[in-house]
Amino acid sequence: MKGSVAVIGAGPAGLYAAREAARLGLNVTVFEKYGVGDKISCGEGFFDLLNLLGAPSYGVRFRVREVLLTVKDDFLVDCSNLNLWMIDRREWQKALAEESGRAGCTIYEHWPVAAEHLGRLKKEYDWVIDASGVKSVSSDKREKVRFAYTAQYTLSGDFSGLNGRLKAVTEPHYTGYYWIFPKSDKEANVGIGWFCKKTPNLSISAELKRVLRREGLEACPVLKKAGGIIPVSMAKQLVRDGTLLVGDAAGLASPLHGGGIDTACISGVLAARAIASGQVNRYGEMVRQIIGRRLELEQRIMEAWMLLDFDGLNDLMAAAFGSGLGRFGRLLRHGRFVLTQAATLHYLTRGLARASWQTGLDLDRVTAEAEKEGRLWPN
Ligand SMILES: Cc1cc2nc3c(=O)[nH]c(=O)nc-3n(C[C@H](O)[C@H](O)[C@H](O)COP(=O)(O)OP(=O)(O)OC[C@H]3O[C@@H](n4cnc5c(N)ncnc54)[C@H](O)[C@@H]3O)c2cc1C
Repeated sequence: MKGSVAVIGAGPAGLYAAREAARLGLNVTVFEKYGVGDKISCGEGFFDLLNLLGAPSYGVRFRVREVLLTVKDDFLVDCSNLNLWMIDRREWQKALAEESGRAGCTIYEHWPVAAEHLGRLKKEYDWVIDASGVKSVSSDKREKVRFAYTAQYTLSGDFSGLNGRLKAVTEPHYTGYYWIFPKSDKEANVGIGWFCKKTPNLSISAELKRVLRREGLEACPVLKKAGGIIPVSMAKQLVRDGTLLVGDAAGLASPLHGGGIDTACISGVLAARAIASGQVNRYGEMVRQIIGRRLELEQRIMEAWMLLDFDGLNDLMAAAFGSGLGRFGRLLRHGRFVLTQAATLHYLTRGLARASWQTGLDLDRVTAEAEKEGRLWPN
């Protein structure tokens, strides 16, 4: 054995880290506070914008080829180039845990790790991976973290009209969006997210109820209530005193749309590899190279969004996703800056590799290297 690793949390980040570490010959023990797959709060859209993870092997509901995006107008966004899926996260995580077990990991469920136990874990294991999510065990309480705020219901109803599309709607009175992510014709996750400061005098749960009325869904039985905060700013230090932070514990969710499953999985794999190859000191740099640049790009788009009024946002979306050359004319009102952001948005949805001219991120190289090593990003 090459050494031992304790992984705190069996969410996407923890399970990807554990499985990869076990495959690389490390002795892995996972501690999960609840049962694997319990108490998940998620829209269950698997958005692998960096296209590094391949199709999810378990829990797939359908491949998402289009997103219906509404500002003032409706835009049908072609996502067929993206690695975008609707999954059942409980099923996916349970199967990943079984696979990790077969790869040699020991998983202890209903085993919460308290902050005061960290010291003991550090003595007993060579490395600790903190994958315990947004309120992470090893978090530095002094560090300022930016959050998105969400509320979500899983509803039973007739969602056949969406026909396998995801729906996202922006509204003028907050920076964020609400979503309808169907898991089947009869079930959907319907939620709302605010992506900057809380909106004064508004309660997010009251806003979700308003959304249900707007969508004619208020009579649908609620199967599950979820929501909470999503960390949307990367931790300054990703390795602290023998502990590697991954996923939400490292603040790796998207500042633009709140998705964090993909970055959780990728950071988990990177942490395991950094440990196995004896290069823990390079883990932070690897995360910044592969994930950080994408998050920076998304942050820039979010900042552009905050500068626009609702008409401007609609014009921006029309330029990015509308049809006909005339759509660019509408942007002249908003200047060259907005034109650049429209191009960025367009490239984002066509697969981020094509936005590398903007970010300097050479994704082709990253992906080629991963492939050369024999599909290093398996699901
Ligand atoms: C309402 C909502 C909707 C979302 N929708 C999407 C979406 O559609 N797509 C997307 O990509 N992202 C979405 N996200 C974000 C996504 O859920 C997270 O970014 C992702 O789950 C992060 O994975 P993680 O493994 O880092 O953390 P988590 O999934 O939170 O996993 C952490 C694990 O650690 C365990 N744990 C916690 N504390 C301890 C402890 N002390 N000891 C032991 N175990 C512990 C937890 O029980 C949990 O199993 C959404 C978030 C919210 C709130």
